[in-house]
Amino acid sequence: MSKKTEPRYAMVVDTKLCVACKACVLACKSENDVPDGFCRDWLVEETRGVFPDLRAENRSERCNHCAHPPCVHACPTGASHVNEGGTVLVTHHKCTGCKACIGACPYDSRFVHPDGYVDKCTFCLHRVQRGKEPACVEVCPTFCLHFGDLNDPDSEVSKLLRTRKHKVLHPETGCEPNVYFLEGGPR
Ligand code: SF4
Ligand code: SF4
Ligand code: SF4
Repeated sequence: MSKKTEPRYAMVVDTKLCVACKACVLACKSENDVPDGFCRDWLVEETRGVFPDLRAENRSERCNHCAHPPCVHACPTGASHVNEGGTVLVTHHKCTGCKACIGACPYDSRFVHPDGYVDKCTFCLHRVQRGKEPACVEVCPTFCLHFGDLNDPDSEVSKLLRTRKHKVLHPETGCEPNVYFLEGGPR
């Protein structure tokens, strides 16, 4: 019997389908009790070019659960760590709120929770472990958010990345993000 491969979780965002409704942001806040004034995911509405040759891109962004996470390396207490499926998490009771991880993250994905620990997107691992999708993925009305296992060649995320042009944010950081953004057209 072949040994089961560890999952490598990723999110794939189809920017062409996003209508900027921000339901993903609201669902995340509700699911994860994110306090007022903070967010674990957010929407970037970017416009490039000059009228009439304009290009718009809506991106639902969050922690990239990087394969090489500088936030984890910067954390002096081990609170920031790599967990199941490559998710990057924070153990709240080990976090002293020193902000070293916030300074190390090139994506501005973290914030200090009013209760004193650093917080951020968890890929909703608590839901995934119960066989559900992350809250943002479940709520998106245009189905532009996809979550799954990149180590499974038959997963939707693997198929999308095999067949569609895509990018990650700031690849030059060397962090190897696991949130991908689909661009128009096939590969
Ligand atoms: Fe875009 Fe979906 Fe988020 Fe709405 S819920 S802003 S369509 S990613
Ligand atoms: Fe860490 Fe930032 Fe990468 Fe998330 S996006 S894993 S917080 S470096
Ligand atoms: Fe928020 Fe969960 Fe989506 Fe992360 S995966 S942005 S914690 S709803």
